[in-house]
Amino acid sequence: MKQIYLLLCLLAIGFRNNNAAPASETTDSNRQSVDYRIPDTIRPSNYRISLTPYLLASDGAKRFTFDGSVAITLRAYSANLKTITLHAKDMTFSGTSLKEKISGNVITISNQTEVDLITDKFSVNLDTALKTDIDYVLAFNYSGKMGDDMEGFYKSKYTNAKGEEVYIGSTQFETHHARRAFPSFDEPKFKATFQFDITHPSHFDAISNTLPTSVINITTNTTITTFKETPIMSTFIVAFLVSDFRGRGDKDFIVIARPEAYDQTEYAYNVGPKLLKILEAFTNYPYSTHGLEKMHLAGIPDFAAGAMENWGLLTYRETGLLYDKSASTLLNQQRVAGVISHELGHQWFGNLVTCDWWGYTWLKEAFGRYFQYFTTHELEPTWEMEKQFVVDQLQSVMNMDSLAGATPLSDPSAASPDDLSRMFNSISYNKGATILRMTKHMMSESKFRAGLQKYLKDNEYDTTVPQDLFNAFDEYYTGLGNISSILKDWTEQVGYPVINIKLTNNGKSFTVSQKRFLLRSDAGDASLLYQIPLTYTTDVESNFENTNTKIILPKSTSETTIDLGNQTAKWVIANIQEVGYYRVNYDDTIWDNIRKALVSANHGKIHELNRAQIVDDVFNLGRAGLLKYERVIQILEYLKSETHYLPWYAAFQGYSYLAIRLGVTNEKYFKPYILGLLDNAYKSVGFTYNQTEKRLVTYCRANVLSWACKYGHTNCVKQSKDIYKSFMDESKPVEVNIRAAVYCTAIREGGEQEFNFLWNKYRGENVQAEQVTILTALGCSSNKTQLHKYLDLILSDAVRLQDRQTAFSGTYTSSAENVNMVWEYVQDNYKKIQSSFDSWSTLASIINGIASRFTTEEQRKSLQTFVDNHKTEFGSYASTLTSALDSVAFNIKWATESMKPFVDHLKSVGDSATTIPISTVLVLVTSYFVAFLFN
Ligand SMILES: [Zn+2]
Repeated sequence: MKQIYLLLCLLAIGFRNNNAAPASETTDSNRQSVDYRIPDTIRPSNYRISLTPYLLASDGAKRFTFDGSVAITLRAYSANLKTITLHAKDMTFSGTSLKEKISGNVITISNQTEVDLITDKFSVNLDTALKTDIDYVLAFNYSGKMGDDMEGFYKSKYTNAKGEEVYIGSTQFETHHARRAFPSFDEPKFKATFQFDITHPSHFDAISNTLPTSVINITTNTTITTFKETPIMSTFIVAFLVSDFRGRGDKDFIVIARPEAYDQTEYAYNVGPKLLKILEAFTNYPYSTHGLEKMHLAGIPDFAAGAMENWGLLTYRETGLLYDKSASTLLNQQRVAGVISHELGHQWFGNLVTCDWWGYTWLKEAFGRYFQYFTTHELEPTWEMEKQFVVDQLQSVMNMDSLAGATPLSDPSAASPDDLSRMFNSISYNKGATILRMTKHMMSESKFRAGLQKYLKDNEYDTTVPQDLFNAFDEYYTGLGNISSILKDWTEQVGYPVINIKLTNNGKSFTVSQKRFLLRSDAGDASLLYQIPLTYTTDVESNFENTNTKIILPKSTSETTIDLGNQTAKWVIANIQEVGYYRVNYDDTIWDNIRKALVSANHGKIHELNRAQIVDDVFNLGRAGLLKYERVIQILEYLKSETHYLPWYAAFQGYSYLAIRLGVTNEKYFKPYILGLLDNAYKSVGFTYNQTEKRLVTYCRANVLSWACKYGHTNCVKQSKDIYKSFMDESKPVEVNIRAAVYCTAIREGGEQEFNFLWNKYRGENVQAEQVTILTALGCSSNKTQLHKYLDLILSDAVRLQDRQTAFSGTYTSSAENVNMVWEYVQDNYKKIQSSFDSWSTLASIINGIASRFTTEEQRKSLQTFVDNHKTEFGSYASTLTSALDSVAFNIKWATESMKPFVDHLKSVGDSATTIPISTVLVLVTSYFVAFLFN
């Protein structure tokens, strides 16, 4: 389970540092019995917090610490309570007091317990019980530390135009890190109001969730900024920033970043207010009435996730907010607009209305991800993000939801920090948004909106559980079945089904039945059933626009027969535009006829999303043993005439998996096969960007070139090398959207000179999006000495902690040959890697990522030896390594037994005498996934 969680977390939220040394950790079995939660019989209503961070060299020994005091107004909601339990972490207390709020009477504290290092809980014990009809004020004086682990109140560093290192103070409190900035009831359900004042250097500004009420210089160099009281809110969306950043905007909407990145804030400032307006219309609930009075979007040089929706002060990794036309790709631009939509959407879904506990994280993240695509789509319809959603989000989560360790959307038992981290995986984001999209198509757009508007109004400034959302949908649902009952199937149960369709009565009817889809038969409960909103069309109707539910397939293993009236159909295609969360398998007759349609003119008028669906489904049905590889290969032959981005995206995902499993031994057979399929697409996209072309053509070019060059397409490699040479010799910049493919090819084919040129560009680069492209491309080096030198650089201060894992994975995902080179490095340097990330969890997940590409018995044995020798050092994270070993054994067995027809076919495709090294495995697809990291 751990293995999958770690992988998924990487995709969903990027690098999250886990500082805990294994030695101090509880074991998995102990963790089950640990109670991380605090009782809700005492609840806070207001916090008054004063903070003084020390960020300057002149602060001496106090530098990177802060002093704090907090006064929490609270009340007991149960009689006879003599203990107040709350959270704190990494702080030193210097005083505690408790008073009755109105009278000021002092209450005697008998003792205050030490903070528990596992649960972060501590208690203030009293001699007498709290009264239930009055407020108390519990106050603490304390000091804390500002780390560089991007959690709590932390420090971030950048180098300014003068070459000076500047340290700023920023926050990241989700999920449970407010307790590192102030003692608190640090769970989402404990909503309260907050009032801050921050004492800071006068050449810095302090910003927070609300506007300042005063900014007063108390000495020449010191200023105190006091902020207006916030609305009622959860601790995890409190935020503040102490920096010398420069803002763009007016008092209502400001984009703020380090001064050197000011030019890169223009795009976010242009689109941000427009996206906010679209969301205001969607929710029918103006943001101006939330009580924040302004919106800041801040780019933070060091940021663990992709972005964070703090109410009124959104914080972003720079790649999620900043856009530079000459250095950011169009995909980067789309990401910026998308992440802004995502975080703005949270102002309603997450901030105004909040999940009651992290076990229902999807109640906010499903909406964040939904708005990321569909709000952005309203602003930029030509980007076709409503279609991209299917391949990026729906198809990508289907794999992990059919493997062992998958968990349901609603998982109220989640409690430990590892559990909370898991709740931010792609299930909450991708699957959550997929279920919302499915619901929209079942209800109609207007009723879906009406239900959500009611949900917001009914639950404003409060917390919710999924039933609250279902109740609101219930009020407006007029479709088939009971929406609340249908949604419970998809949110409380894990996984999804494959439906099997057979044509009957000479094409006048068909039967349909369901079974849970599992990639491995031992990977979970195969008996789960779902109420499935079924959509379909036939070759006679050929209607791919109607996404209305035609029938709700019942929770049953029996076949349902559907009459087609007067039609005599040759094929049925179910799941129109893939609006439902299920796969479809057909009988031989239908598959034959679909195949014929796909190769006919205009692909038989089959919608591009259903072509992408067919491609994704056949790959995975083949992988699961539900469709013979001969059939899979036969259907995929149609790709020779396919030039559309969406089906090709699905194809690259499917081939990526197979190419990994082929390993070094069989890859030579893959080259002529994939280049044969790609030829037409390659010719159609070319190397030249045309300003008038559709977005998806630009994206398609990036992927097609990456694959063609990777598999040694002669013209692709030559052109890439020529372009890179002009870049080196004549400073002629590479067209930004094809940089990943060109850089990678040049690094793989080139030597030290090409490598050093790009490394130096990285060092001087002011745009983080370009930095990430370069870091990934440098991992394409096929020279072992150079690759090992590069791994040393990745682990050094030359690469920001937030980018290290992306850069690291670029080295072993770049080719089958590199897997062994990187694995050799890891075995010799595992302590260095652990130390660079300050995390055994990250090291285990890196090893897991490398092992997922093992294809030989020698590699498996080498991993076994490593695990035997070192597992005690990994503490509880050793379980990641042991499950990696299981997966490697399974993968080798699977490749030997199940892939034979595929390999036989490859061997028959063409002359394979020449071995050409495989280059990057999906540089673009990899970086694309990594690009979508956020909270
Ligand atoms: Zn989010």
